[in-house]
Amino acid sequence: MPVNESEDNRAAAGEGSEPHQLRVVARRNEYVLRRFQRHELALMAADSLHGLLHQLTEGTLRSFALDAVALDVVDPGGEIADALGRGGVSLAELPAVRLTPMPEWPDHEGASPQLGPIHPAEHGAYFREHVGELHSAALLPLVRGGRNRGVLALGSRDPLRYQPHLGTDFLDHLAMVATVCLENAVNQERLRLHGRTDPLTGLYNRRYLEARLAEEVSRARRHHMPLACLFLDVDHFKGVNDRHGHAAGDAVLRCLAERITELLRASDVAVRYGGEEFALLLPQTAATEAAVLAERLRAHLAARPVEVAGVDCLVEVTVSIGVAELAVDESGDGLLDGADRALYRAKAGGRNRVEGRNPGDAGGP
Ligand code: GH3
Ligand code: MG
Ligand code: MG
Repeated sequence: MPVNESEDNRAAAGEGSEPHQLRVVARRNEYVLRRFQRHELALMAADSLHGLLHQLTEGTLRSFALDAVALDVVDPGGEIADALGRGGVSLAELPAVRLTPMPEWPDHEGASPQLGPIHPAEHGAYFREHVGELHSAALLPLVRGGRNRGVLALGSRDPLRYQPHLGTDFLDHLAMVATVCLENAVNQERLRLHGRTDPLTGLYNRRYLEARLAEEVSRARRHHMPLACLFLDVDHFKGVNDRHGHAAGDAVLRCLAERITELLRASDVAVRYGGEEFALLLPQTAATEAAVLAERLRAHLAARPVEVAGVDCLVEVTVSIGVAELAVDESGDGLLDGADRALYRAKAGGRNRVEGRNPGDAGGP
């Protein structure tokens, strides 16, 4: 029989002789408390947002022998979705988590857990296809400081497990710990994101590339896979600023960054390396394939002049691209240097073109 984590329901219903019943209740509450504490420690020990979301759903399900758990997380700007995506986490890996733009719970302090029988209209949004198997539920608002972070929904097949009259001390506590852990994980993720993102384009910054490059080089060596790098520099960009102003130049850079990412795979790493220079790291890609992508990128950007608000003509921009593939025994810096030299040759060769490490090659090692 699953133990109720709110105050004991059968005792509250007044069954059995009193002293024996009190001992049973005390033992059961002690057991419940220990389980709660273990679960809370696991929540606090989660070292990433992904780990925490997993612990809040799967962990809660297992710790309390529930039949269903769902977690709604309020994510108005899509920041959490973005952070998970950048960390390589797909929401498909967290089927019990739903990111919602708007809180479904009143936005005020002190909202308390709602316990009671299942109402498909109310609970269907949380438990979806499982709602028909459940008989009682507790909805825990994750609210602190007047801000609603989401709802943790606990579902049980046992109709007695969550009843409206039961005390909710344990559940209040769980909701508060879950809320604080969630806020903390989101803040950590935000800091991590700001530390590695270029504010103008939203691409990764150079600092991130340096860390990621070392990882990708060792991964490529371990799995005997190729790794390529493209260095891309906007042609005569100074002229764009001179003709249309710095703000228009910024808008062009933002647009180029978007268009570059359109052609990349999820595993590719796009970086704003400097002012009007971008570096693209392409795992599992050899030089010939990288050169094909580079040519597609070059043509893609050259074919569509950029529309800039406040500028009465379309801004034509082209880019020059250098291609290099990681050579045996080459360091990550060597790879960047190879792509940079190839870029220099593309510039010297007349701009709006792609070059490999050596004349006529694709940038191979
Ligand atoms: P090249 O074809 O040789 O690359 O010519 P270029 O004019 O692009 O190269 P140069 O290095 O002479 O000039 C780069 C220009 O990019 C100068 C600089 O003002 C501009 N730039 C760098 N960062 C930014 C930025 O964040 N915003 C804007 N609007 N311009 C920038
Ligand atoms: Mg340039
Ligand atoms: Mg430059």
